[in-house]
Amino acid sequence: MPLTPRHAAATHVGRVRQSNEDRFYADEGAGIFVVADGMGGHAAGEVAAEIASTLIGKRLSAAADTSEMAELATALEAAIAEADQRILDRARGDPACSGMGTTVTALCTRPDSYVVGHVGDSRAYRLRDGRLERITRDHTLVQQEVDRGTLTDEQARTHPRSNILTRALGIAGGLEIDVYHGILEPGDRILLATDGLTTMLPDSEIAAILDSAADAATSAEMLIERANASGGIDNTTVIVIDLLEPAS
Ligand code: CA
Repeated sequence: MPLTPRHAAATHVGRVRQSNEDRFYADEGAGIFVVADGMGGHAAGEVAAEIASTLIGKRLSAAADTSEMAELATALEAAIAEADQRILDRARGDPACSGMGTTVTALCTRPDSYVVGHVGDSRAYRLRDGRLERITRDHTLVQQEVDRGTLTDEQARTHPRSNILTRALGIAGGLEIDVYHGILEPGDRILLATDGLTTMLPDSEIAAILDSAADAATSAEMLIERANASGGIDNTTVIVIDLLEPAS
């Protein structure tokens, strides 16, 4: 049974920051969803996140007819690499953009499967039968500590240096992209989120919200509201994608 994505996206500046340096791209018809969390002074983070989300979204739209997952993964990696190069070029040519970078987590869905391309600490999750699983692994110093067993996941989440990245777009000297493949089942709910959500809320709370909300729009709204109620120290962006069977 081919599945159709139904999505809702929301972004919020939060309660502390003056500007929103998160960007997202969503093309439901083509099954393309991207979140990017920019960094860099004087609004440069916005520029990096905008380049990444728009360019990757457009390149993947051009590959919308591709149903071969290996081919799609190759297109996804090429698009992320091109965005990285574009950000580096812009930073070299424009002193105001020097040092800018961004995370990117990009999801392509097909009728029964997905592929995710990922760099940085935004995340993709999948809720299935009430259970939340992380699809992506953070590229952060604290995640390395979690992997070594020297920090728990909860200690990592609340760590003062939790935002230090080990990988991002816009850093010269070699880009490493993680690619994840998976199968989709009817009723799956996928979440893409920037760290404004995941530093504010533990996975258990994210799971409870996703499991209780009736639809993607309610999920997105509740996630943003809870992130802000829990402090809203950062910009928060979420895309919730429900995989639905066609109405009979
Ligand atoms: Ca952030």
